[in-house]
Amino acid sequence: MVKLICFAATHSTSGFNVLTYFDMTQPAPQNAPKINLRRPDIMEVVQAQVLSHYRSELVERMRAKGQVVSANGDLTIKLAKEFGFCYGVERAIDLAYAARKVFPDRALYILGEIIHNPEVNDQIRDMGIKFLSGKEKSASLDDLKEGDVVIIPAFGAEVSLMDKLKAKGCQFVDTTCGDVMSVWKRVRQYASESVTSIIHGKAWHEETKATSSRATAQGRGHYLVVFTLAETDYVCDYIVNGGNKQEFLEKFKGAYSPGFDPDQHLQALGVANQTTMLRGETEDVQRRLRAAMVRRYGPDDVTRHFRFFDTICGATQDRQDALQKLLQEPLDLLLVIGGYNSSNTSHLAEMGESKLPTYFIKNAAKMVSDELIVHYNQHLQKEIETANWLPSGRVTIGITAGASCPNNLIEDTIKRLFVLRNVPLQEVLRD
Ligand code: SF4
Repeated sequence: MVKLICFAATHSTSGFNVLTYFDMTQPAPQNAPKINLRRPDIMEVVQAQVLSHYRSELVERMRAKGQVVSANGDLTIKLAKEFGFCYGVERAIDLAYAARKVFPDRALYILGEIIHNPEVNDQIRDMGIKFLSGKEKSASLDDLKEGDVVIIPAFGAEVSLMDKLKAKGCQFVDTTCGDVMSVWKRVRQYASESVTSIIHGKAWHEETKATSSRATAQGRGHYLVVFTLAETDYVCDYIVNGGNKQEFLEKFKGAYSPGFDPDQHLQALGVANQTTMLRGETEDVQRRLRAAMVRRYGPDDVTRHFRFFDTICGATQDRQDALQKLLQEPLDLLLVIGGYNSSNTSHLAEMGESKLPTYFIKNAAKMVSDELIVHYNQHLQKEIETANWLPSGRVTIGITAGASCPNNLIEDTIKRLFVLRNVPLQEVLRD
């Protein structure tokens, strides 16, 4: 029997939602047992635990004082107005912690990283929650049996995987973000109208895999994932001029639905995007595809052949907007803090790179000294070292952090900068 633990898909910035219903993407089974993980007694403990792990007094003080901290007039640090944990991440973490409290003696599993931050995933593992995939994998699907509790990460999971777990009789703590579910709704709609979903995203990312699986979930529909503008242009050219089908299929291997045929399935398109893409780029993708459809089918018929819904989430947008604003101020360099596999964080780093020296780091320890920083180069997909990264003399540093980065890591980074500049921390923490 399939058992479901049910949650509301609404958010609050406090992260404490009222349990109301189960996985909103599926019809509710009759008499599905419901377990309220958000009981006040549970949430009181969870809140204290989450705060003790991730809170930062320094960051809160900076928020209250215009996002700036400065010492000796020598080092000034400016935080973007929006940064760090989003509502979806807060909710996912709360639910995972609550699950541990509600099931203290049960084996608890998680499909993979709950969010893309190594420190947060370490905490989850330290609570005895077993990972079913990834570098930290400590159990496999074969180990699962009826009644085992499986946490679904904030990105959601593929339909086929959910079906397997249901068939095993697992219980779910489903932390899928409501904004991700909105994309699922969109691609389902496209499928029901025989419109191929063009998903702007990373075909290898958990969220995009989960979304792609919804584009074919009703036994019909097709999808194609495009990541870059160059890929988009290739698709546009194929739409307008046709091309070599085998070459097309080879180029997009692993990024389209079974049976996808570019000669048949590019005649009616609906664009959706991974929630964490760069807005400007997503708009470009849809503009280029629309223009191709106009060239192919004419302006009068384009509405029959092309649809677009922006599915970038509010939190991603807010962080990009806030960084855009921060980048208009005079800064010497930018630090972007977050997990290297975090999509929204990598886009913040991209924004910074286009304007000024930008260092994408996962924690403060990466600032080895004032002469050496180890940081992630997303184009090379590896950490690299940069010497003489911290200018001498008066310096102003901008900081932002991805939606999966906790405040305590931001505080560590700020403190480390002051240590590197030999500013006593008491001076920073004064008043
Ligand atoms: S980044 Fe957006 S989609 Fe992802 S968890 Fe946060 S709010 Fe949800």
